[in-house]
Amino acid sequence: MQVNKVGLLSNSFEPGNATRVRMVVLHATAAHGPGDYNYLRRGGEPNRRVSIHYYIDKSGAVAQMVEDKDIAWQAGLSSWKVDGRQIAPSCNPISIGIELENLNTGHDPYPPAQYAAALELARYLVSKYNVPRGQLVRHLDIAPRRKTDPAGFPWERFVAEVYGAGPAPTPPPAAPAVPAPTPSRSPPRSSCASCSSTWPTARPAAAGRSAGRC
Ligand SMILES: [Zn+2]
Repeated sequence: MQVNKVGLLSNSFEPGNATRVRMVVLHATAAHGPGDYNYLRRGGEPNRRVSIHYYIDKSGAVAQMVEDKDIAWQAGLSSWKVDGRQIAPSCNPISIGIELENLNTGHDPYPPAQYAAALELARYLVSKYNVPRGQLVRHLDIAPRRKTDPAGFPWERFVAEVYGAGPAPTPPPAAPAVPAPTPSRSPPRSSCASCSSTWPTARPAAAGRSAGRC
């Protein structure tokens, strides 16, 4: 996975250390690039500072703006049960945020390349930091009355794929009864596995702020 480490153009983050990472939060920017990218990279505005660890554009390019160990201002006011403890008023101190370039209308598509990059990045992060399945979340999960992102993202499938279950299985065709092998002069059949669909790779996006807005 190629990650373009672009950094932030401001100090809209707090220093931390890698042991803090216990959650991964997925967002949608509710905007288009490059405006949303530039906004996040600036760290928001002086009176509304936000930031994100990773930003994935629609082509699947991944930019990293804040180091994993540091605290980005992406989740804002939020709460979640993490490792048996209720976290509040913000999940920022223990999470890594990924922003997806998307209008967050519920109809704006997440192209396959973007989805694939998000999948690859999320797999990498949950493995690296031992983030359990219940702690990979959407922004709307941890701030339900305030946030709706990432609207329209195929969440159940994504979580299943991140944790190795693969795409939601389509029922396999009924296996034909296998006849007892009989001597034959015909060439052996090639075993025909069902084709596994592949997904283009995509990249993640940025997150918000520790206890504020995203
Ligand atoms: Zn968000």
